[in-house]
Amino acid sequence: MPIQEVKLIWRNGEMIPWADATTHILTHAVHYGTSVFEGMRAYNTAHKGVCVFRNQEHIERLHFSARVYRIKIDYSVETLMQVCRDVVRKNDLEAAYIRPVAYLGYGEMGPASPNAPSDIAVAAFPWDNFLGEDGKSDGIDVAVSSWRRFAPGTVPAGVKAGGNYLSSRLISMEAKENGFAEGIGLAHDGTVSEGAGENLFVVHKGRIITPPTASSILAGITRDTVSVLARKAGFEVVEQAIPRELLYGADEIFLTGTAAEVTPVRSVDRLSVGNGDRPITSKLQEMFFGLFTGETEDEWGWLDPVA
Ligand code: PMP
Repeated sequence: MPIQEVKLIWRNGEMIPWADATTHILTHAVHYGTSVFEGMRAYNTAHKGVCVFRNQEHIERLHFSARVYRIKIDYSVETLMQVCRDVVRKNDLEAAYIRPVAYLGYGEMGPASPNAPSDIAVAAFPWDNFLGEDGKSDGIDVAVSSWRRFAPGTVPAGVKAGGNYLSSRLISMEAKENGFAEGIGLAHDGTVSEGAGENLFVVHKGRIITPPTASSILAGITRDTVSVLARKAGFEVVEQAIPRELLYGADEIFLTGTAAEVTPVRSVDRLSVGNGDRPITSKLQEMFFGLFTGETEDEWGWLDPVA
């Protein structure tokens, strides 16, 4: 999907013109995948104006990811939250995808490079649901990938690092080349892990099930949002290893993520999901998008106004 350019990007403490946000070819992250990032959204809400959604949780996860890889971030959570608000506001964006990224920069070669400098930037630009607006209403067709997700003790799946997305690219490309909207990765043990850039939920006999963090997933913030909303609505939500065949016996399946929001799955490996009715997914979509229209009360302080 082509990037829609806007005016300004924040980098290392200052707002700079979009076109100036370039980097040297020998930047460490280009060679070794040593970047950590976030994907966040701002929504133009009906009742609180333009708001960053779960700003604090995203920036805290960025700090956590950077900690694991020893990528130094000189800016506090509060400062970076303000930067996210500013980047949206100063680019006159109403609804936006926000992309903070911290990475090892130019200066040293070799994987460890303990003295490589770190750089940090925050960009924001318009980006619709990346599985498509139709997907949100009609559901998408997915396939289980032939590629496994990385096992525990290899590359940490719970850290949102640039290098992890080599796995996502393989999973997603394979699916798209075979005519599916998205691919689902299995964990090292053959149980279901997650989509290339989304967490997965299965509805089975009235219960809502999602793989645990040990199943090589990124613990998504939308996954948490949807779990909280589902429990609020009285549903049982459990984290439980999911055998592949449960995908074929599920009543409903949906994917969650900042970019994907809440997207129903209508088929897996060309087998239709359930009987096609999606009462629980629809209810959760209604509650999720209701946060931005004001129909769902934000009891949790998840909306962070940019102004
Ligand atoms: N898993 C992966 C691999 C992802 O890239 C994402 C998107 N960040 C998610 C799950 C969903 O996470 P979140 O809800 O925090 O966007």
